[in-house]
Amino acid sequence: MPTSLEMKNIQKFYGPIHVVKDFDLHIQPGEFVTFLGPSGSGKTTALKMIAGFETPTSGDIFLGSRSVVDLPAYERGIGMVFQNYALFPHMTVAENVVFPLTVRKVPRQQAEEKVSRALRLVKMDQYSGRYPNQLSGGQQQRIALARAIVFNPSILLMDEPLGALDRNLREHMKIEIMRIQKELNVTVLFVTHDQDEALTMSDRIAVINEGRLVQVDDSRSLYAKPKNRFVASFVGESNMIPCRVDRVEEDSGKVTVAGIAPGTAQLSGQTDGANGWLFVRPEHVEIGLRSAAVNLPNAIDGVVENALFLGEMTRYMVRCGDEIITVKRQNRGEVHFAGGTPVTVSWKTEDCTVLN
Ligand code: ADP
Ligand code: MG
Repeated sequence: MPTSLEMKNIQKFYGPIHVVKDFDLHIQPGEFVTFLGPSGSGKTTALKMIAGFETPTSGDIFLGSRSVVDLPAYERGIGMVFQNYALFPHMTVAENVVFPLTVRKVPRQQAEEKVSRALRLVKMDQYSGRYPNQLSGGQQQRIALARAIVFNPSILLMDEPLGALDRNLREHMKIEIMRIQKELNVTVLFVTHDQDEALTMSDRIAVINEGRLVQVDDSRSLYAKPKNRFVASFVGESNMIPCRVDRVEEDSGKVTVAGIAPGTAQLSGQTDGANGWLFVRPEHVEIGLRSAAVNLPNAIDGVVENALFLGEMTRYMVRCGDEIITVKRQNRGEVHFAGGTPVTVSWKTEDCTVLN
């Protein structure tokens, strides 16, 4: 049975350095949650505290209704996969995978059955007699995964497990991990600094910056409604243009964009006169010839600085005063604008938000 996981006001100091700050997070049984954040933001430290390899400075951690902070790692029933596989090099695949069962004194025949089942699940049952150095990186990572799940953990922690794999293999393993989670019916807490991994795999993503949870949301909400500038620029591509809020209206506000053009944007709590950043995704920006009529509330004149043909779409960099605005348009018979073309870029009110 999958378990819930709750972190309550978790703090971690290394000496004077505050590495994990006020973590409050409740993960549902069977949920796939990802910690997404840049290197050094505290992801591994948070995971280690859950697994029992580090002790929180304060706060509490619950698996189901049970507090685990005073339990040693091996009594928490947590499976863990690391970035660097951490397989025992002198043991065969089967010996590696049986290890957690030996430690738990599972009877031999039962253990062998569990090992076969785990190896079948990761599609490595043909390789049980090999040594780790006779396997590719992707295969080693599958074995590490088999070893982490062989004792039926109720929760699986994975710390950048795909980081060392090349791109194709990573795409494949993403789908494999999602399949395995469904088949095992296990709660997963996954760590990555790769937004694509996070967006594809997760039920919810917890974005971490400098030791703090900045936003916890499902992929679509995170992409469409980032809470602040950090989340907006860390998840997906975005335009972030300086702006001033001139007048707050009922559910939007009049703004001046980049000190030059008037517009209307959604607000995120700003008041009259506030300075902020106008956030708009490149795929939400329209582009047209300067002379063409624009009937959107936000429009800025500019000049195409360069146009990159990307197959299914074109990416334009448009210089508007001191700002460069990125535009992504699908190539479906649309007009192409070459470098040097005077254009107007425009977008809807509902597609832009003032962020702090
Ligand atoms: P991430 O996994 O997000 O890259 P970490 O959790 O590994 O980040 O590290 C967060 C911060 O804590 C970093 O600044 C790191 O240098 C520091 N740190 C990690 N482990 C230790 C430790 N054992 N002693 C002192 N500082 C540490
Ligand atoms: Mg790490």
